[in-house]
Amino acid sequence: MTKGGDDKWKASLSELAYKVCRLGHTEPAYSGALLHNHRCGFYHCICCNQRLFDSNTKFDSGCGWPSFDAAIEGTVRYVADKSHGMVRTEIRCVQCDSHLGHVFDDGPTSTGQRYCVNSVSMQFDGASPSDQ
Ligand SMILES: [Zn+2]
Repeated sequence: MTKGGDDKWKASLSELAYKVCRLGHTEPAYSGALLHNHRCGFYHCICCNQRLFDSNTKFDSGCGWPSFDAAIEGTVRYVADKSHGMVRTEIRCVQCDSHLGHVFDDGPTSTGQRYCVNSVSMQFDGASPSDQ
């Protein structure tokens, strides 16, 4: 992470987004605005606006966070996370190093992957501007 960048993020993000994206916290389950978003479009990084996920890969995992079975290739990096007494794989935005969530290998679809992503770390860009 770039030194001295924290103030910039603090000013531009909500308090929760700052804690999740820059400090690696997790938003409360079932709280995310995008959890039940079924529109077509792309999910972008809230910090740098890079496209991360395609709505085609979103599914309802029942875990309380927006879930995807794949990330757009080359947009996330994978970091071993041994916090909370578990070994998990953290996912981060390759462009700005924002914490996004974790990926698990118990996905129900053909990819076998379950990207469990904080809603607050993404912004949705819908394909059809007419629908609210
Ligand atoms: Zn980013």
